[in-house]
Amino acid sequence: MNTLDIRNLSVRVAGNEILKNFSLTIPKGEVHAIMGPNGTGKSTLAKALAGHEDYEITGGDVLLDGTSILELEPDERSRSGLFMAFQYPSEIPGVSIANFIRAALQARLAEGEELEATKYYKRLYEKMDLLSIDRKFTARSVNEGFSGGEKKRCEILQLAMLEPKYAILDETDSGLDIDALKVVAHGVNTLRSQNMGVLLITHYQRLLNYIVPDRVHVMYDGRIVKSGPKELALELEANGYEWVRDHATATA
Ligand code: ADP
Ligand code: MG
Repeated sequence: MNTLDIRNLSVRVAGNEILKNFSLTIPKGEVHAIMGPNGTGKSTLAKALAGHEDYEITGGDVLLDGTSILELEPDERSRSGLFMAFQYPSEIPGVSIANFIRAALQARLAEGEELEATKYYKRLYEKMDLLSIDRKFTARSVNEGFSGGEKKRCEILQLAMLEPKYAILDETDSGLDIDALKVVAHGVNTLRSQNMGVLLITHYQRLLNYIVPDRVHVMYDGRIVKSGPKELALELEANGYEWVRDHATATA
């Protein structure tokens, strides 16, 4: 029951079936990586899990600790313990990071309950120290004019503060500079725990030099075609996605 269980999920986008009977189970306490070529449906998976309205579920189910989340609105999914970090995060001009995270935490409390400001800032600063983030950073508007590394810092700080049960991180396919890469790696490695399952979506093997996953899954044409231990990422780097495609065709 302590899993994020994606069962035979099929998802249609703009009239095309992109995910086809996609199945994957992420146990709490583990870090799983999904790798795959561009256009294979990795971001579609993340968006469908988040409950994005453009992504129509045509089959299957998603169970969070045994309970289906498919009928929940995006904000309800978030409050039930699912955290999403997207490839292209939105800018929120005029809203500081500190106030943004505070509002998200406040929304998780019961009606009439008030998040205590002193306690909130104490915890925020503790997490920032843990993640080596400069305190001045929280006064900046969310993602406004941020560098790649700063966007990742903002994302990882949200992750640390919200303490989700499952985190899905959709990493950029290109332009992830070394600073951004290290922020994500340091963040995930620091926050890894028995209480959280992580799904790391990535195009490049390079990120997995810094974050060692418990399991690697290769996605091709809307489904997982191969799963294995961390060494699978190296195999993939050596042989390329052609190798996976041939494998997928052979077993289809
Ligand atoms: P990946 O993240 O693996 O590169 P995506 O999930 O972004 O792949 O895309 C998979 C396929 O779904 C692509 O063919 C893409 O064009 C299509 N797709 C994804 N999102 C949309 C959308 N909002 N509208 C139309 N097509 C989409
Ligand atoms: Mg993508």
